[in-house]
Amino acid sequence: MSIERIPLIAGNWKMNGLRADAIALAKAVVDRVAGAPPCEMLMCPPATVLTEVGRVLAGSGIALGGQDCHAADGGAHTGDISARMLADAGCRYVILGHSERRAGYREGDELVASKVAAAGHAGLTAIVCVGETEAERGGGNALAVVGAQIEGSLPADPSARNIVIAYEPVWAIGSGRTPSPDQVRQVHGHIRGRLTAVLGPAESARTRILYGGSVKPANAAAMLALGDVDGALVGGASLDAEDFCAIARSCR
Ligand code: PEP
Repeated sequence: MSIERIPLIAGNWKMNGLRADAIALAKAVVDRVAGAPPCEMLMCPPATVLTEVGRVLAGSGIALGGQDCHAADGGAHTGDISARMLADAGCRYVILGHSERRAGYREGDELVASKVAAAGHAGLTAIVCVGETEAERGGGNALAVVGAQIEGSLPADPSARNIVIAYEPVWAIGSGRTPSPDQVRQVHGHIRGRLTAVLGPAESARTRILYGGSVKPANAAAMLALGDVDGALVGGASLDAEDFCAIARSCR
């Protein structure tokens, strides 16, 4: 792993966490980290508790992020949240193009690219999720699918490309299954190649590529030791303070 790329362990809480649970979980992580996160750590709670979780995280060294944003700065978009609103709530990151949004809301690459641009203009780092379905992998198309998602999901405007990539095979999310080390190495290497083609070698070398999909304390160290794996996007295990911190400690 290049020394330019500080490992990032990001927790995606998804649609979990009422106020009391969210505060308790954030406090439990903050207590365990004790002001010295072992790597860069990020929590992405639901929008309803961003402010409260942000208060708990203040001074802890753990960053706050959103789980999605709209591409517009504001206006008649009932139920949506802009990137500027997330920044205003204390977020530094936003997850974009998660497979649950790509599948559940038919979000395509073009829409994701416009959200990534909005995030960049609001001063947020976008965690851009890509990954193949089981059928796409079975058909031998994993690299082609992921490569096309990378190229299509990045905005043309270079000043709006403040990004981290998360490779999340759709079939590994929440399933307890993970790709083999060789499969992860192959896809991350391919992503690095596509980033170099799109962003140029210097920016590509600075861009972190996370692995996501059933990361647990038991498999994190092996995953994080693979070349071109610069951290993890963690779903289910981020809802358990000890598991999330154990995964972060695996970065050492
Ligand atoms: C995710 O949905 O981003 C994710 C990685 O989930 P899990 O860790 O639960 O597979």
